[in-house]
Amino acid sequence: MTREIKTTCPYCGVGCGVIARIADDGNVSVKGDPDHPANFGRLCSKGSALAETIDLDGRVLHPEIAGRRAGWNEALDLVAQRFSDAIAEHGPDSVAFYVSGQLLTEDYYVANKLMKGFIGSANIDTNSRLCMSSSVAGHRRAFGADTVPGTYEDLELADLVILTGSNLAWCHPVIYQRLTAAKQARPGMKIVVIDPRRTMTADFADLHLAIRPDSDVALFLGLFEHLIANNAIDQNYVAEHTNGFAEAFASASGVSFNEVLERTGLPAMQLREFYRLFEATEKTVTCYSQGINQSSSGTDKVNAIINCHLATGRIGRPGMGPFSLTGQPNAMGGREVGGLANMLAAHMAIESGQDRDRVQRFWQSPAIAEAPGLKAVDMFKAVGDGRIKALWIMATNPVVSLPDSDAVEAAIKACPFVVVSDILKTTDTARHAQVLLPSLGWGEKSGTVTNSERRISRQRSFIDAPGEARADWWQLAEVARRMGFADAFAFASPADIFVEHAALSAFENSGSRDFDIGAYAGIGKAAYEEMTPFQWPQPIGDERIVTRFFAKGSFFHADRKARFVPVEPPASDRTSADYPFTLNTGRIRDQWHTMTRTGKSARLSAHIAEPFGELHPRDAMEIGIGNAGLVEIESPHGRVIVRALITERQARGSIFVPMHWNDQFAARARIDAVVGPLTDPFSGQPASKNVAVAARPL
Ligand code: SF4
Repeated sequence: MTREIKTTCPYCGVGCGVIARIADDGNVSVKGDPDHPANFGRLCSKGSALAETIDLDGRVLHPEIAGRRAGWNEALDLVAQRFSDAIAEHGPDSVAFYVSGQLLTEDYYVANKLMKGFIGSANIDTNSRLCMSSSVAGHRRAFGADTVPGTYEDLELADLVILTGSNLAWCHPVIYQRLTAAKQARPGMKIVVIDPRRTMTADFADLHLAIRPDSDVALFLGLFEHLIANNAIDQNYVAEHTNGFAEAFASASGVSFNEVLERTGLPAMQLREFYRLFEATEKTVTCYSQGINQSSSGTDKVNAIINCHLATGRIGRPGMGPFSLTGQPNAMGGREVGGLANMLAAHMAIESGQDRDRVQRFWQSPAIAEAPGLKAVDMFKAVGDGRIKALWIMATNPVVSLPDSDAVEAAIKACPFVVVSDILKTTDTARHAQVLLPSLGWGEKSGTVTNSERRISRQRSFIDAPGEARADWWQLAEVARRMGFADAFAFASPADIFVEHAALSAFENSGSRDFDIGAYAGIGKAAYEEMTPFQWPQPIGDERIVTRFFAKGSFFHADRKARFVPVEPPASDRTSADYPFTLNTGRIRDQWHTMTRTGKSARLSAHIAEPFGELHPRDAMEIGIGNAGLVEIESPHGRVIVRALITERQARGSIFVPMHWNDQFAARARIDAVVGPLTDPFSGQPASKNVAVAARPL
C-alpha cells in the first residue's frame, strides 16, 4: 500500500509543505500539501522534481580519511583529536565550523552549542551569511531583535506590494503564485518591482523601476523625505513607538529629488508615481530579498525600507509591513538557534553579558563565547592566512558559493585539517576534505525548518539511510562526546534536541525576548512526530492563527521602542576603464545553489542548460559579441567563460550571470571566482550584485 509522509521542501525559504508518496516498490513521488499554510498544495518546478533528485549517484556512503574508507569510530576519534589538539595548542579561536541553511534546526542547535558553549569560540558561521544577514542586522538595529514582523498572507491582503531586489517569480515561485492569484482576484492591487533587470517578476508589475545597482538607499531616502513633505507620517505611531525620527529626517533631507533621480537613473515621472503610490496606499508591503541583502550597503538598504514603514505606522497590521524573503529553507531556523557568528542562541545577543550568562547557565557549559566570531568571508581569510587550524564544513559548497572562490579553494587546500560532512563526494569542496563524513539527505533526515514567515515545519524521513550515512547532529554529538562533553550532548533523537531548544527559548524569558517556542519544551517524541506547521509565537496547536509583530509597538529594544536608523546613500559605481561593466549574480528558476541536487534532474536542467551572461544588445555590439557567442568575464579576482545571452531585459553596462554552475557542470563557470570579497560593514554579507568586470569575446 502506498504510504504518504508529510514533510517540507528543502529548497527555498518559502518552506512549502510536501507530501511524499512511497509506493510498495519503493518508488517515490511528491505533491504539494494542501493543508500546509505556506503553499496550500502548490509546488514550483524544483519542488515538484524532488523525487528525481534522491538517487544515490555520487553519494558518500561511508566515512573516508584521506580518500580511504574508514569506520565511524576511527573518523570521529580523529576529528575530536585534531580539534582538541588545535584548541589546546592555539586556543578555541583556532577552530571553526562553516555550516548551512540546508541543515535542520536540530543540527544547527548542536553545532552552535558545541562551538559557543563548549569549545568557547563563536567561530561558527553559515552560508546564510551570503543570503540574508543584512536583513538580520537591519532587524536588530530597528526592532532590537531579528524578527520578521509579517506573514505571507499580508502580500495577499495588501493594496500595494513592492518587490525590491527580488525576482519572486523565479526565486520564491510559490509566493509569486499566491501573489498573482491575489492580483487576479483583486486587479486594483498594485505591484511595483524595483530591479535593474527586467525579470519575469517585472513583467507582471504595474510599475518597474529599473534603478542603477545599489541606488536603493537613495530611492528609499527620497521616499522618506517625500512622506514627510506630504504629511504622510503617522505622528502617533512615531511618537509612541519609535525613537530617532529627527536623526533619520536629517539624513533624508540631505538628499534632494534631483539627487535621487541622478543616483537611480529613473525618469522623474516613474519616481513620482512610486512615491505617490506609497504615500496613498495604507496597505503596503515591501518585500526584499538578495538584491537588497547582497550589497556593501545591504543593512542600510534594509533600514531605509523599514524607516518608511515605521514612519507611516505600516507594520504588523494585515496587509502592511517590511518583509524579508529568506533564500534558504532553514536560514530562519539557523537564526533561531544562533547559527551566525554574531548571534547567540534563541535570538539572544552575544554582546550582552546577561544573555551570555543566561545561555551558559542553561547549558551548564564550561565556557561561553565572549565576542562575535569570524563571519563567512573573514573566516575563510583566516583559513587562508593560517589562523584557523581545523575547519569543519557541513552541507555547503564554499569553493563554489563564496566570493573570491579561487582564494577560498586555495585556503581550504592549505588548511592543516578539514572535515566535510555532506551527502555527495563529488562537490568542489568535498574533494578537498581530509575527513569526509556521510550525511543524510532530504527524505532521509528528520527535524524542523523555519520559513520566511516564522513558520516551523517538520522535515520527516521516509527513506532508509543509505550505507553508513548518519545525521549531522549525531556526528556533532559524537565528536562532542569524544572531546569530553558527553553529558551535554546525550541526545538520542532530533526530538530531544528540539525540546532543549524550545526550553532554552523560554528560559528566564518573561516576554522581553522575541523568540519563544517554550510551549513546545514539554512535548514528547510522539508529539514531535505529529507536529503540524506553526508560526511562532502562537500557542501550541493553533497552526492556523496568523501572527504579526509591532502593530502596537512592543519592540525588543530595552525601552520597547523601534529605532529609525539614519542612513546615507553610498557611492555605487565601481566601474573603471579596465573593468567597465557591472556584474550582477543571482538565481535561475530551476536550479538551486551549486546544482548538487537539482543538477541531477534532466527536467530541471532542460530549462537552462548552460551558464550564460545576459548582456544588453548595444553593449554586446560594442564589444563584438554575437548571440550565443562565448564571452569571457574577468575581474581582478578571477574569470569565467559563459555563453552570451543578448537581451534588452538587461540594463546597459550590466551583465547578469547565474550563481549555480561549478566545475562539475561546466569548465570555468564558477562566477564567485570573479566576485570580490567586499562585504557590508554591519552584516558581513558579500556584495554579489555590484562587481566591476571586463567582458570580451573569447
Ligand atoms: Fe520548494 Fe521554494 Fe518551490 Fe516551495 S517555492 S516548492 S519551498 S523551491
